[in-house]
Amino acid sequence: MSKHYDVVVIGAGPGGYVAAIRAAQLGLKTACIEKWHNDKGKVVLGGTCLNIGCIPSKALLDSSFKYAEAAAELGVHGISTGAVNIDVPTMIKRKDKVVKQLTSGVAGLLKANGVTVIEGLARLSAGKKIDVISQDGSEHQLQAENVIIATGSLPVEIPPAPLQGDIVVDSSGALNLQQVPARLGVVGAGVIGLELGSVWNRLGSEVVVIEALEDFLPAVDRQIAKEAGKIISKQGMDIRLSARVLATEVDAANHKVTVTYSDSEGEHLEVFDTLVVAVGRKPNTEDLLSQDCGVGLDERGFIFVDDYCQTDAPGIYAIGDIVRGPMLAHKASEEGVMVVERIAGKKTQLNYDCIPSVIYTHPEIAWVGKSEEQLKAEGLPYRIGSFPFAASGRALAANDTAGMVKLIAHEQTDRILGCFIIGAAAADLIQQIVIAMEFAASAEDIAL
Ligand code: FAD
Ligand code: AMP
Repeated sequence: MSKHYDVVVIGAGPGGYVAAIRAAQLGLKTACIEKWHNDKGKVVLGGTCLNIGCIPSKALLDSSFKYAEAAAELGVHGISTGAVNIDVPTMIKRKDKVVKQLTSGVAGLLKANGVTVIEGLARLSAGKKIDVISQDGSEHQLQAENVIIATGSLPVEIPPAPLQGDIVVDSSGALNLQQVPARLGVVGAGVIGLELGSVWNRLGSEVVVIEALEDFLPAVDRQIAKEAGKIISKQGMDIRLSARVLATEVDAANHKVTVTYSDSEGEHLEVFDTLVVAVGRKPNTEDLLSQDCGVGLDERGFIFVDDYCQTDAPGIYAIGDIVRGPMLAHKASEEGVMVVERIAGKKTQLNYDCIPSVIYTHPEIAWVGKSEEQLKAEGLPYRIGSFPFAASGRALAANDTAGMVKLIAHEQTDRILGCFIIGAAAADLIQQIVIAMEFAASAEDIAL
């Protein structure tokens, strides 16, 4: 006989575990199914973000930043050190410890709130039935009043650069390198490529980023993206735009990979010690949906949902990376809270115009709302205020003057429409604009 739940959540990433906890807090009988398990057979909670995404990448960004600062930035303050060294295995172990602490915390929260965690691969069939296959091969079925699909995303693989050991790696591999590669290639100048490239560049790798698009960071306001390109190139990352990877050849004996790429001048060869393939992520619907479950996909393979994350099938919702919108942990969590509160009869909604994005390079690049280019395309009249960090006393005092803030407001109403920042602590600064935009503030409100 199948067990009955008010809410069954599939996936325990930041979308799924937050949804499950909120559901239990609202008095709903809740189960959360997660297929990921460690080599001891124990279920691994926290999804991509905690295990192989946001958290480990930020841990390595912080370690590598401290190293780079100690190695090159302290002299100006009158601080001298002996030779600065990096012990990569220790850095990786610290990162693993942070991950473990957080994933154990999630397990504790689920337990404390009374969520039933079920280990296994979930498959959804008609009538909101969920079949679960555990790693030991045993199978059982759950019956749900409401289903929340939060199965996340997987790295895109490209035929010219198949993964191979620790020579051609995806983002997960790049978070676990045990030594600094002398030459590191990165395919894709997106958020993940730039963050991982920065980690190893700071630790001493010569980094070449190969990006197919003509524009650098197309999602970012052009002026800020241009500034970012200049700053990041100056730090030593060699960004090659309009460059498409055609083939790779691995020489495992010598731990080298030869990359062939083409640009407007023809074909080129580059030899790297490690190549990181960071060309985007795809929705994870693998083995998830039976033909008759009633859930449809959109033309890009994401689960089709409306503004409230409702799928085509009544009582079945989908949230996070598996649906449209930015692939961000806080977006996944917010969608989880919205869905569960709506199941519980509240009128919660999510303001999709107010989701901040951050690239944790140094300086950080952070933004919310619309860029000048988007507003032009939409025909909305706007005004711009911008300010360079070089003119900020605080930035000068910190010896961290690279970058600028660009605030965009409606020409007539003065309502803030967007903000783009490149600069130290941009991630912290953007929060203030997010709050201001949620309150429909004007640019004058901020100035006051
Ligand atoms: P996921 O976190 O992917 O979780 C999905 C879970 O579902 C997984 O645990 C998976 O095992 C499980 N699952 C899948 N299928 C099944 C099934 N059939 N049955 C049972 N379980 C299943 N975002 C940010 O906001 N800030 C950042 O700084 C940031 N940095 C990142 C850095 C890297 C290197 C990467 C790769 C991503 C980063 N992200 C960041 C993105 C962020 O990780 C994702 O947006 C977020 O994890 C999405 O959450 P989710 O719950 O939708 O899916
Ligand atoms: P994102 O989607 O932000 O993770 O960024 C991934 C980047 O990889 C995008 O900017 C793509 O243009 C880029 N990309 C995809 N395929 C290739 C390829 N074959 N060669 C170089 N860059 C690529």
